[in-house]
Amino acid sequence: MRPSCGYPASVLAIASAMVVSMRMPEDAHARAEGRLFGGIEGGGTKFVCVIGRGPGEIVAETRIPTTTPDATLAQTAEFFRAESARRGNLAAIGVGCFGPVDLREGSATQGFITTTPKAGWEHTDVAGRLRKDLGVPVAFDTDVNAAAIGEAQWGAAQGLDTFVYLTVGTGIGGGGLLGGQPMHGLVHPEMGHMLLPRDQSLDPFPGVCPFHGGCLEGLASGPALLARWGQPAESLPVDHPAWALEARYLALALVNLVCTLSPQRIVMGGGVMEQAHLFPLVRKEVVALLNGYIRAAEILDAVDAYIVPPGLGNRSGRLGALAMAERLAGSG
Ligand code: ADP
Ligand code: ZN
Repeated sequence: MRPSCGYPASVLAIASAMVVSMRMPEDAHARAEGRLFGGIEGGGTKFVCVIGRGPGEIVAETRIPTTTPDATLAQTAEFFRAESARRGNLAAIGVGCFGPVDLREGSATQGFITTTPKAGWEHTDVAGRLRKDLGVPVAFDTDVNAAAIGEAQWGAAQGLDTFVYLTVGTGIGGGGLLGGQPMHGLVHPEMGHMLLPRDQSLDPFPGVCPFHGGCLEGLASGPALLARWGQPAESLPVDHPAWALEARYLALALVNLVCTLSPQRIVMGGGVMEQAHLFPLVRKEVVALLNGYIRAAEILDAVDAYIVPPGLGNRSGRLGALAMAERLAGSG
């Protein structure tokens, strides 16, 4: 292992296993001032890497195509190495990664991508390899938990300790904070694969999920919209019947989340949610489906502020990864 900013390996292992929680405390933020951090949004098509301190303080950014683990992780490390040589050492790096991933503390494969359908990426040690190549502490979480942490730190979930971040894109994924801690658990939540009630005589579309057919992702992801309607979601007109059905499925999922996790807010991002007209449709369906049972003013009187787009737009993931790095360094 390379020299690691003076930290012994045992401390690094403990530090990198520490979880990131909601907003960074003021003292950690103060300690972060003047230091540079790295953030990686590791996606199935590209790795977006940033260096900086926050949304208004990004000093370098790059996109690396997701090809093979060796090539992509080597290019990622090279970007951070070259930038550190010019700008000074990074205090820590955060990674929000596509998965499934292993987040279990103490697991021999913590920080790995595990059984992903993405060819060639099964059982890839992402966090360990970056830690070894770059010699800095690395915080690691799911892509959606990273996005949630970004939203908690600088976006639409500031001040909340229990909320959901759901992305509707090529896949559907959800994460968030529960009592201030990122949602982990047995593996980590797989909200995109929740099963929804539906009448298959009214909607015979089998769904596109290779595991479940018509789970949420199988019915409502971008590829599901393409398969069902024969055209990409971005080209479906606003008055197309696709959107009412889409809103219905998303709302069913959100109602399940409201009833199981009691989130203080739900942030919805991803390419499909670029269709801003979906938000009012989803909110209306959620209120109707709950049928007054959850007696919370946030839902009954202010649903427009309860189901919201990300405050950081499509930058939640990379900025959240940066926030994870700041938190890890600040807690040391
Ligand atoms: P990814 O999930 O791959 O990280 P996105 O969140 O952009 O990336 O999701 C891509 C999916 O979202 C595609 O299936 C695409 O058809 C759909 N999509 C992207 N942009 C839009 C848009 N403006 N309106 C509707 N669907 C979109
Ligand atoms: Zn599924």
